[in-house]
Amino acid sequence: MADSPGGDPRPTNVCFTMHGIGVSGGIAIGHAHLFSGMSTEVDHYPIAAYDVPREQRRYDRAVKEVQEELKELADSVRHSASSELAPFVNVHLMLLQDSALSEVPREIIAEERCNAEWALRVQLDELTAQFDDIEDEYLRERENDVRQVAERVLGALAGSKRRIVPRPAREDPAILVARDLSPADVILFREHPFAAFVTDMGGATSHTAIMARSLAIPAIVALHHARSMIREDELIVIDGAQGVVIVNPDRAVLAEYRLKQNQARLERDKLKRIRTAAAATLDGTPIQLYANIELPSDIEAVRASGATGIGLFRSEFLFMNRRDLPDEDEQYEAYREVLEGMKGRPVNIRTLDIGADKALDGQENEAENPALGLRAIRYCLAEPELFNTQLRAILRASKHGKAMILIPMLCSWTELNQSLAAVARAKEELKTEGVKFDEHVPVGGMIEIPAAAIALPMFIRKLDFLSVGTNDLIQYTLAIDRADDSVAHLYDPLHPAVLSLLHGVIRTAHQHEKPIAVCGEMAGDVELTRLLLGFGLRHFSMHPASVLAVKQRVLTTSLPDIAPLVARVLKGEEPDKIRLVLGKLNG
Ligand code: PEP
Ligand code: MG
Repeated sequence: MADSPGGDPRPTNVCFTMHGIGVSGGIAIGHAHLFSGMSTEVDHYPIAAYDVPREQRRYDRAVKEVQEELKELADSVRHSASSELAPFVNVHLMLLQDSALSEVPREIIAEERCNAEWALRVQLDELTAQFDDIEDEYLRERENDVRQVAERVLGALAGSKRRIVPRPAREDPAILVARDLSPADVILFREHPFAAFVTDMGGATSHTAIMARSLAIPAIVALHHARSMIREDELIVIDGAQGVVIVNPDRAVLAEYRLKQNQARLERDKLKRIRTAAAATLDGTPIQLYANIELPSDIEAVRASGATGIGLFRSEFLFMNRRDLPDEDEQYEAYREVLEGMKGRPVNIRTLDIGADKALDGQENEAENPALGLRAIRYCLAEPELFNTQLRAILRASKHGKAMILIPMLCSWTELNQSLAAVARAKEELKTEGVKFDEHVPVGGMIEIPAAAIALPMFIRKLDFLSVGTNDLIQYTLAIDRADDSVAHLYDPLHPAVLSLLHGVIRTAHQHEKPIAVCGEMAGDVELTRLLLGFGLRHFSMHPASVLAVKQRVLTTSLPDIAPLVARVLKGEEPDKIRLVLGKLNG
């Protein structure tokens, strides 16, 4: 798709560099594909008669939104070097105001009792058929304008539910350039692989960034102007570790990055040699290295990584990019596939963690502070039937392997008891129905809210195991929205408060002889492996792509040797000193 009329007026092929936050390392070289999130592929679903006015209002809102957008665009191009584009934008505004687009789809919603997207699609088909019969070439060309306006309205209707569209022109994987991508968008990368992605928005531990790391593709967020500066099909170099984008690189730069790319490939190949080696420190302490997954199809990557279990199956991804909810049988099949794929090795299935930056289709999060709102276990306890369906599916699948249930975002005594009661209820139901399952499925809790970390003994007694979600623990301890790029620089895993909480949680778990893992991003950061080992952590869960590098670090670590430096990190009050000692620890 070509750049919008608001694109920058710079000459073509000019080399320039942009800096953002590198959230997934690696080098990618490829052609840009601008993602606008607009497509005329739409779902069709019926609506009840009483929902017609609401659907019409949804349509009106989308039209209004596009109108505002076009007015802004008209203003900005009028005063820019692209002022000759203003008449085109005005044509779009006129088309949008015409009853063919502003009224007729509303009538179709009422007549066909269908969703707004479908109504617009029907009307678009009708209009384009009329254009086919027009002889005048100029008028026939307006068909494109109508289509573009309709696409904008569809984009507004879709909101966060945009779809990634593969770039048709080239064979090689493209680099996706977007204003923002939702976790649901990124999951679609599995269908249309991209070599890398860059976005104008986003933070380092947003779920979008986590997905990039799990796909093992370079990614940079918070670039602010990439979507407007980079043009479709321009050659770009992405250095994910440094957070640098080079647009239209010259030959020397290209050669340098090709070399770096090859070196990285060789390093990765070398690491593969330790895939089957047992993970243990130099002094012989065994360490468990598990993998985090989003979908059953990730099992392949888990196997290739040599991980010996799944420490976090983010089950919410089964619920995304669809209008309906997966029923019990569908979920059962997904869990069973993972359990069988892991051949008796542990699989921690985290119950639905929806909310904050992960939304179900059709449920825009309208809360003022979604990260502090109805998220994860709070959501599930508010939707007992949905929770029951998932628990029944997990329990039914438990006979196919070693299933473990992991409850996200536990915070209160009541939530803990209600969660356990929900598991007990699901078990009772299955027993009454004569359905077989593993009666001893362990139930663990994620420690990712500071209150839970501080009051850990309250949770420990009733749970079989613990897993620390450092991404959220940092977010909530430091009051930093992990998805907000404007505060991303303040998101700091090495903040003394975070380190002290994490160390305390691991120590308390050991005192109570409860198994404890870390499954947040800290577990997959090789720079933090020794620190966590020194804190007493023996169980890490991370993206499959990080397992081998972390294993390498484990294999070269002597616990007695690192102990004094780890003690110094813990005593450190100033971040600079903490970083200095950490450097020595990794040296
Ligand atoms: C975490 O918060 O650290 C975690 C592992 O869960 P998620 O990133 O899915 O919130
Ligand atoms: Mg979390």
